[in-house]
Amino acid sequence: MNHPYLMEDHEIFRKSLRKFLDKEAYPFYEQWEENRLIPRSFWTKMGEQGFLCPDLEEKYGGSGVDWGFSVVINEELERVGSGLVGLGLHSDIVIPYITAFGTEEQKQRWLPRCASGELITAIAMTEPGTGSDLANIKTTAKFDGNHYIVNGQKTFITNGIQSDLILVACKTDPNAKPKHKGISLLMVERGNPGFSRGRKLNKVGLHCQDTAELIFEDCKVPKDNLIGEEGKGFLYMMNKLQQERLVVAIQAQIAAEVMLKLTIDYVKSREAFGKSISQFQNTQFKIAEMAADIEMGRAFLDQLIGEHIEGKNVVTKVSMAKWKLTENAKKIASECMQLHGGYGYMEEYEIARRFRDIQVSSIYAGTNEIMKTIIAKNLGL
Ligand SMILES: Cc1cc2nc3c(=O)[nH]c(=O)nc-3n(C[C@H](O)[C@H](O)[C@H](O)COP(=O)(O)OP(=O)(O)OC[C@H]3O[C@@H](n4cnc5c(N)ncnc54)[C@H](O)[C@@H]3O)c2cc1C
Repeated sequence: MNHPYLMEDHEIFRKSLRKFLDKEAYPFYEQWEENRLIPRSFWTKMGEQGFLCPDLEEKYGGSGVDWGFSVVINEELERVGSGLVGLGLHSDIVIPYITAFGTEEQKQRWLPRCASGELITAIAMTEPGTGSDLANIKTTAKFDGNHYIVNGQKTFITNGIQSDLILVACKTDPNAKPKHKGISLLMVERGNPGFSRGRKLNKVGLHCQDTAELIFEDCKVPKDNLIGEEGKGFLYMMNKLQQERLVVAIQAQIAAEVMLKLTIDYVKSREAFGKSISQFQNTQFKIAEMAADIEMGRAFLDQLIGEHIEGKNVVTKVSMAKWKLTENAKKIASECMQLHGGYGYMEEYEIARRFRDIQVSSIYAGTNEIMKTIIAKNLGL
């Protein structure tokens, strides 16, 4: 591994994180998958060690370090299992809205407890009737002088069951033209009257990650929980989706690397027709093709992460990476399962879980079709 944006400090940090995960995550991961939940104690242990939102300023409970440390965390969590995506979503997707658009009072009120793992966050954009077409959300927030009264429903929300703070996209002006100008972001808190959770959803993969429906029925949200300005929610989301999609690309890249490694180990140990299956030309060609795709993906991703850390606008390239790297990982999952033969279809082999988990990467954080629409639009089409 030779990421140009990672220095010795990052690798020392990686070592201590790996040691922590060897003790606190790997031995329990299967149980968490069966329980369909990651215990809150894991969040607080991550927080105690400084493994949640390390890029936050020290005065808000972070370590004030560069985003390279967050890359390391996302990589190592993915190595344990894709079901840990909710932690990356908390640190690198939700919290950045508070740091970028929140008031000083909001930062002091929430950030230290987000860094310690006491508060778990979620982001609620998707609704039963709309996902890709975000400007068309129906959840409303009417201002009554002191509170916003929120009505509507959200679905597929990562950390939905455990979350204490949920960044909710709603329409403060349902008649705005164009529609996206009527969207605002409100922070709904556990216990706000009128807020309840719906079903915990039963998914194909990411079993330990809780994903849920959220319901708002005349839900009273204090006016001080508005993030940024009214009507700018859509703009804020477009701004922050760059990092969200980059995180998904990083996870897909690591998943591909892990799957290839599992498969190389497997084909060396399995025999057929009197020789190791790694000796068949088909096996070698498949492995060579996957290794080449992974190397290409890694080079593009590393360059992109570097540019993102430098603060460059890399929306088009991020859309390319999210699309290409997730499709690559899905293809690799399929090839790796095939090379495992029947054992690949058995739950006791990690490739089976990886195969299930990777499927969603081309759907969430904006589908890969939406990624292509962004690329085409930015090419002037
Ligand atoms: C496990 C999981 C976790 C998730 N976590 C969250 C979360 O934490 N917060 C959140 O808000 N959402 C979350 N989502 C929702 C996710 O972001 C949406 O599912 C996704 O954006 C797609 O929306 P949709 O499901 O409504 O599909 P639709 O928008 O209905 O799309 C259906 C199909 O039509 C295609 N399509 C739609 N529009 C176009 C177009 N213009 N051109 C070409 N094709 C198009 C899509 O690509 C897709 O193939 C999660 C989803 C899953 C499965």
